[in-house]
Amino acid sequence: MSDFKSLNLLPSILTEIERKGYINPTTIQSKSIPVLLKGSDLLGIAQTGTGKTASFSLPIIDRLGRLSTRPEPLQVRALILAPTRELATQIHKNICSYSKGLKINSAIIIGGVRKENQIEELKDGMDIVVSTPGRLMDLMGGGHIRFDELEVFVLDEADMMLDFGFYEDVKTISSKLPKERQTALFSATMPRQIEELAKKLLNNPVKVQSAPQSSTISKIEQLVYFVEENDKLALLQMLLADESIQRVLVFCKAKYGVINVVEDLAKNGISHGEIHSNRTQTQRDEAIAEFSEGKIRVLVATDIAARGIDVLDVTHVINFNLPDDATYYVHRIGRTARAGKDGVAISLCGERDLALLRNVQRQIKKDIPTILDHPFHKEFPPLKVKKKRVGSSASFRERKRPSQAKRRAKKKFLENL
Ligand code: AMP
Repeated sequence: MSDFKSLNLLPSILTEIERKGYINPTTIQSKSIPVLLKGSDLLGIAQTGTGKTASFSLPIIDRLGRLSTRPEPLQVRALILAPTRELATQIHKNICSYSKGLKINSAIIIGGVRKENQIEELKDGMDIVVSTPGRLMDLMGGGHIRFDELEVFVLDEADMMLDFGFYEDVKTISSKLPKERQTALFSATMPRQIEELAKKLLNNPVKVQSAPQSSTISKIEQLVYFVEENDKLALLQMLLADESIQRVLVFCKAKYGVINVVEDLAKNGISHGEIHSNRTQTQRDEAIAEFSEGKIRVLVATDIAARGIDVLDVTHVINFNLPDDATYYVHRIGRTARAGKDGVAISLCGERDLALLRNVQRQIKKDIPTILDHPFHKEFPPLKVKKKRVGSSASFRERKRPSQAKRRAKKKFLENL
């Protein structure tokens, strides 16, 4: 497939695609759209930034746009589940624009805002609902939403659902959906639990994959600065003195880190916003809107924002800390160099980040160039290579221990977002 026209999408959808300036479908779009238009289930390995939203939204809109009837009260025809409010908002915004000119209604059902308005919106039935799991479960429990007429279910960013502790919620929600339906599951990675979930949810799915992660970030210039933890704020100020850093996302490992950076930016009179779980949804939305409109130069965030933010012209991503999970590095830096633009990703690497940097370099299969010539440069001793213990009882203990450690790390990760 070489262009959108050959897909037989409704003319108003093609008009909107053209208005958005899309010329050709992306890889994931050309592979997914025909499959979904045919009605098959789909397993998509793709991350944000690949055009994945349109891959599932356009076939849904095309399908529902051809119907002449309205959904019954409380009923929903297509459900899209996403792990973060930011990502759900992003998807809903896209759906609203792709479905302009069609008699399709859509709603976003997320936490952090009053549910009364959402309940009111759902009363007369809804073609498309984009939702995060928590609020959806709440409204389902109250009988405010029903799925007897559901035709399509999309689970987006399934691996992030797992990371954010929504696995059980997703299983509960999907168990309440009709068995006769079309299902698409998208995930950036395929851990074992997601493979099992896919087996349960999907019926004879077609498997499609976008370009591998490492190649999607090839346009991003990646750099590392070695620096003492205590000097990171000063180094950040030094970097921000460079005016070519026009719109920058700064990622911290935890919300307390974000607050620390934000206080320093405020002291230095740098326009900024912040996103983490201590901020209300309205504050989070406002921060993204101001960042998109160029009213603020720096947006400081936890990994809540690692996948959901689709702001054009993010010139730089700065990792104030490296993430514990190397795949998040790829998601974070993918916030820059979007839609064919260039971008720079800078990582501030303290002694505590060294092992994480090693994991990142393994993940992206290359060494990231180091900037040595700066006033805060610090030489760290090389990482010690841990020797594996051998022997049956020791190796049994070793196998046991990481899973507990992993569970604790995950709990801490979620609490600190
Ligand atoms: P997504 O991966 O869905 O978050 O999309 C990433 C970015 O690519 C968004 O800004 C989309 O508007 C843009 N995009 C999606 N499809 C296309 C396309 N076919 N051509 C150009 N840009 C696109």
